[in-house]
Amino acid sequence: MPGDPFYCSKAWRALRALVLAQEPHCRMCARVGVVRPAVDVDHIVRRRDCPALAFTRSNVQPLCQHCHRSIKQSHECRGSNLGHGLDGRPRGPHPWNRLPEGR
Ligand SMILES: [Zn+2]
Repeated sequence: MPGDPFYCSKAWRALRALVLAQEPHCRMCARVGVVRPAVDVDHIVRRRDCPALAFTRSNVQPLCQHCHRSIKQSHECRGSNLGHGLDGRPRGPHPWNRLPEGR
């Protein structure tokens, strides 16, 4: 997240470096037997959901760029970032789409 002061903080950079030193390979790729160098460190429980876990070692995981991007996209899909259809309703798994018609 460019511009987020959190990612510029000394504490985060230190944790990030530690994680990448301990686990230099992407954890998600490793689960499916692929070895890919990790370049990003990701919060498993997002900071937004639990800021107290922002610097908890067990709450961060090393990821390659590809996995990090796909995780971020799946987070965004939970919101309403897919835009709106012609009928004005949000697309995708937006809560509105789970309500019965006519509300
Ligand atoms: Zn990966």
